[in-house]
Amino acid sequence: MSIHEEKKDILGQSYIYMNYQVDKKGFYGNFGGAYIPEMLVPNVEELRNRYLSIIQEESFQTEMDQLLRDYVGRPTPLYLAKRLSEKYNTTIYLKREDLCHTGAHKVNNTIGQILLARRLGKTRIIAETGAGQHGVATATVCALMGMECIVYMGAVDMERQKPNVERMKMLGATVRPANSGSKTLKDATNEAIRDWINNPVDTHYIIGSVVGPHPYPDLVARFQSIISEEMREQLIDKTGSPNPNYVIACVGGGSNAAGAFYHYLNEKSVNLIAVEAAGQGVYSGHSAATTFLGKPGVIHGSKTLLMQTEDGQITEPYSISAGLDYPGIGPMHANLFETGRAKFYSVTDGEAFNAAMLLSRMEGIIPALESAHAIAVLENIPVKKDDVVVINLSGRGDKDLMTYITRKDEFTK
Ligand SMILES: *Cc1c(COP(=O)(O)O)cnc(C)c1O
Repeated sequence: MSIHEEKKDILGQSYIYMNYQVDKKGFYGNFGGAYIPEMLVPNVEELRNRYLSIIQEESFQTEMDQLLRDYVGRPTPLYLAKRLSEKYNTTIYLKREDLCHTGAHKVNNTIGQILLARRLGKTRIIAETGAGQHGVATATVCALMGMECIVYMGAVDMERQKPNVERMKMLGATVRPANSGSKTLKDATNEAIRDWINNPVDTHYIIGSVVGPHPYPDLVARFQSIISEEMREQLIDKTGSPNPNYVIACVGGGSNAAGAFYHYLNEKSVNLIAVEAAGQGVYSGHSAATTFLGKPGVIHGSKTLLMQTEDGQITEPYSISAGLDYPGIGPMHANLFETGRAKFYSVTDGEAFNAAMLLSRMEGIIPALESAHAIAVLENIPVKKDDVVVINLSGRGDKDLMTYITRKDEFTK
């Protein structure tokens, strides 16, 4: 199936309609699908067959809206950053996902998935986590719903991210170390998949970004799309138009960007800017700039762009920010890159670090290191005086305080 669909406009002229959403087979153009072991097919099929009808039920939407409002704190503000706007001689709004309960956008998705899991009759939740942010967001909603929660985490990551391990335990989750391979995220993912194969009936696997086999990328994008839904209404209020000139978001797996882009995908006048982590430099060997370095391949059950060696082994990514430290990118974004609908930039550790300092001093907002990548790209895009720019501030910087304290001398001159 092609994503380039020929249509006729009202005058009978034919034009090409590009569909950036998932197709019936689970693909975004050349990317996506469900490349999974046979043992996992029943679990994924059940989800695929039922997710759309469940999340469109009125009772689902009522419960979801209420939790997003009263528990997460939505709608999050769209804040006019006056001093930052002056510095870059344009108009910059920040979408304040950093004000969500638990400190980032991830909870929008875990709330949605736990409500879905309950309606699928599941009683047990599993998840994998790298830095622990998705683990915390999952443990939080499991506590809220009184459901059993098991989070797989690489043993090395557990050591590196102790505060988040303690948070998950405090919220009642069991954190199980993955001791194989490099003892990091991909090993935790393998353990979670093994668990799901062994517990197909009572268990739902909450994936934390727009990655994994179909229907996960679409499911997660729909739950995060509340971000651009609110942006449109808030912009009408503030500027008279729902459409800005730019929407900017950082990309790890791509869930906050998917949410910020979602309702603008077919609005050609809106420039979509995705920012990846260049780590110590795109070609330094220590980077997570997937669209610059990646080739098509399969990771976590999905065909997408992926950093890999000549013979197809996944290479270890690197970024100062744990949330962007991922060797792939969601299939929606691989397609946005390939079609040119979104422009991809990359930002180094140092540039992100300094952007975090800048935002703190200029606006009194300490951002997550991930989100600081989206701020830093302002140095590289040709914004004009009359432009309206929206930056999705995906999370707050509390979790990064030790990095901000200990690496200051390295990055500031
Ligand atoms: C996890 C995380 C990210 C990266 O994940 P996406 O799926 O790419 O959004 C970005 N920002 C923050 C604050 C995060 O916690």
